[in-house]
Amino acid sequence: MDTISMLAGLARRALTPEPPKPSGIFGGSMGNVPPEKVRELKARVQENSQILDHMVLAPEDQKAQLKASITSTVPASMLRAVAREGVQIVVVRKDTFADPQTVGAYSAKHKLIGVRPTELLTGTPIHELAHAYDDALAPDVEVNGKKEQRNRSDQPDFQKIYRSYLKNTEGQLPVGQDWIPTSEMEQAKGSMWSGYARKNAHEYFAEGVEHFLHPFKKAELARTDPQLSQFLAQTLH
Ligand SMILES: [Zn+2]
Repeated sequence: MDTISMLAGLARRALTPEPPKPSGIFGGSMGNVPPEKVRELKARVQENSQILDHMVLAPEDQKAQLKASITSTVPASMLRAVAREGVQIVVVRKDTFADPQTVGAYSAKHKLIGVRPTELLTGTPIHELAHAYDDALAPDVEVNGKKEQRNRSDQPDFQKIYRSYLKNTEGQLPVGQDWIPTSEMEQAKGSMWSGYARKNAHEYFAEGVEHFLHPFKKAELARTDPQLSQFLAQTLH
């Protein structure tokens, strides 16, 4: 785990349920952290915080929670690209989504991310930002005079990586289930790092980004899905 991941872990540790870590991991002195790493982290947090001031349309307390989830974790280049597209984040009521199970969503048409207030300190904001980033990385195309939205994950090189994940994880889910929520991952086995990622290439991308930026899940992703991990290392810098 590098220093940035560890510092990011400080921000996210309390947010997602993780098994308890041996004491001492977070007990080290900041004096051991190389000054350039600290400078890099501070610059990233500062830039992301300024971007979020404009991007988030929510009361200050909710904005602060979103900042706690996002600023130290997401590369500034990713947030900048999403901001350039004019994407905004709103905090929405449970019944805003058609399905009450939905915790967040990204609308490419409206360039809008909706997140439930209970999800502000989870991985959901990063997952939805990943969808917006996927959208921002690929220009939309015109088909028969009509504009059609395209994502980076629609492109052949990514489709190839997605298809090999489907193949590698085939049969690792209960029979009759093509995908499962990540919270039920304990049922899965083998090279499966997210059941939900099997749903389609867009979810595979978003779940991948969420794992790649997570201080503890990053290593699991690199071990079980090196192709995606390498793709994301090149894409998120
Ligand atoms: Zn999604």
